[in-house]
Amino acid sequence: MSENETYDVVVIGGGVAGLSGAMALGRSRRSVLVVDAGEPRNAPADHAHNYLGREGAPPLELLADGRAEVAAYDVEVVTDRVVGLSGEVDGFLVTTEGGRRYGARRVLVTGGVVDELPDVPGLAERWGIDVLHCPYCHGWEVRDQALAILATTPMAAHQGLLFSQLSDDVVMVVHDGVELPDEELEKLGAIGVRVVHGTPQEVVAKDDGDALVGLRLADGSILERQAIVVASRPHVRADYLGPLGIEPQPFEMGGAVLGSVIAVEPTGATSVPGVFAAGNATDISMTLMASAAHGNRVGAWINAELASADADSAVRARRDGFFEQPAWEERYSGDRVWSGRVNVQLAAEAPSLTPGRALDIGCGEGGDAIWLASQGWEVTAVDFAEAALARTTEHAREAGVEDRVHTRQVDVRTFEPTGETWDLVTSHFFHLPDGGMPDVVRRLAAAVAPGGTLLVVGHHPEDLTTGLRHGHTSFMFTSDELVPAVPPDFVVEVSEARPRTQAHPETGEEIAVADAVLRARRTS
Ligand SMILES: Cc1cc2nc3c(=O)[nH]c(=O)nc-3n(C[C@H](O)[C@H](O)[C@H](O)COP(=O)(O)OP(=O)(O)OC[C@H]3O[C@@H](n4cnc5c(N)ncnc54)[C@H](O)[C@@H]3O)c2cc1C
Repeated sequence: MSENETYDVVVIGGGVAGLSGAMALGRSRRSVLVVDAGEPRNAPADHAHNYLGREGAPPLELLADGRAEVAAYDVEVVTDRVVGLSGEVDGFLVTTEGGRRYGARRVLVTGGVVDELPDVPGLAERWGIDVLHCPYCHGWEVRDQALAILATTPMAAHQGLLFSQLSDDVVMVVHDGVELPDEELEKLGAIGVRVVHGTPQEVVAKDDGDALVGLRLADGSILERQAIVVASRPHVRADYLGPLGIEPQPFEMGGAVLGSVIAVEPTGATSVPGVFAAGNATDISMTLMASAAHGNRVGAWINAELASADADSAVRARRDGFFEQPAWEERYSGDRVWSGRVNVQLAAEAPSLTPGRALDIGCGEGGDAIWLASQGWEVTAVDFAEAALARTTEHAREAGVEDRVHTRQVDVRTFEPTGETWDLVTSHFFHLPDGGMPDVVRRLAAAVAPGGTLLVVGHHPEDLTTGLRHGHTSFMFTSDELVPAVPPDFVVEVSEARPRTQAHPETGEEIAVADAVLRARRTS
């Protein structure tokens, strides 16, 4: 038993809906716990019918087999009753009558309903035996028998139509205060259903209780019957949802309120994120098969939601890691990463400038810094990865420009030039997630000497359609997004999406891409 553990999903109720939901989830390798009190709605009946593949199986045997089947997918089942549910999505706490506590990312409520029966002495004792409600569940078993239908609501006329399919001997016993519409009475008469009025006094059984005798009617006479049909009033079993704000809602059919359920979306989602419900708890008209199918489908929806949430957190984790120093130290600890050639836009812009002091942000392996040095610039090459600076130094030495390339370890996200300035401040393909670049532009602008140039180049968001920039969605930018961060004492000379081509890394095909190019000159 994994008490105090956190599961992907805790399923409350291990009837056919709950176990079928657990099946879908377990087979998707979700960690699942089913807490079940062991009282399925049809427990009073000896056999379950209308269930393809297991026709006539005893209800508890059906569920015992279901428990064994889900166990094969590592679903845990515990016999206990949930009495409390608190917390929120990804952090629910489920507490039980037995004093157990479980954590859950999602909760599937499949506790079913409890049937409130008409108040006729002797009726409840025979519920599920020869007191019935559903023609599809046990109508065949009482075919051709003498049947009574207790009309406690006008909906009884509907039951009259369905049970008269199965027997020619059906008597509708209309309780005091219940009015069956005239057209319904006419239909019942036309199909041979007899109608008597008055609330019956009691259900009469043989002395040994073994068999039904019939109904003692309002006038004291006995109406001999072999089975009695009633409309129960099913109420959802989910008091523990109240504190979360989920209250039972009336279940209406044909304009009449027939019981209560939990309201859900087509996905099984309730009004509380992370809490789902399925089966009879959401629709009292569902039979076993419908409840099982619903539970299974909602289980799949929960799995889909979890899969999506898992992918989102994987993206966040990767993004967070991707932009941190350790990831770049590791990247520069293996094979050479970049070509070493100067970036195209730097080669296009720099020749119009008079060489002086240049600050190269995110210098990587030094390609741009070394090119600038070869053009006569005195370069400060900065990066937050020590491994990058070591490579820049090494490559500058190999290129014979080590005296004009000076490395410095700087995290540009917190860079403060503190009065030091450069004639060219340049950043090529330095990106930050979630709109972080304007702040970097502000910091870099502060490092530009009067008359100097700021040149920022990045991947343009349109490149996402090229298939070359998987996973870049949140950190590409347009030059227009950066312009507001350029201080007023600058003139923006270039702000554009500049086309170029790039070879596809696998096919070698030249793909049309665009660079976001911002060039601004400081006037004072
Ligand atoms: C007498 C009778 C006979 C029926 N016969 C048939 C039939 O032959 N064929 C047919 O198709 N339909 C039949 N039905 C309808 C059938 O019972 C339901 O459609 C079906 O049981 C609904 O399945 P479920 O999983 O939603 O709920 P249930 O089967 O009721 O299962 C809910 C489970 O949740 C548990 N639970 C509830 N609250 C908690 C809690 N707080 N903590 C832990 N566990 C909890 C319950 O103990 C139960 O085990 C019959 C109904 C009745 C009343």
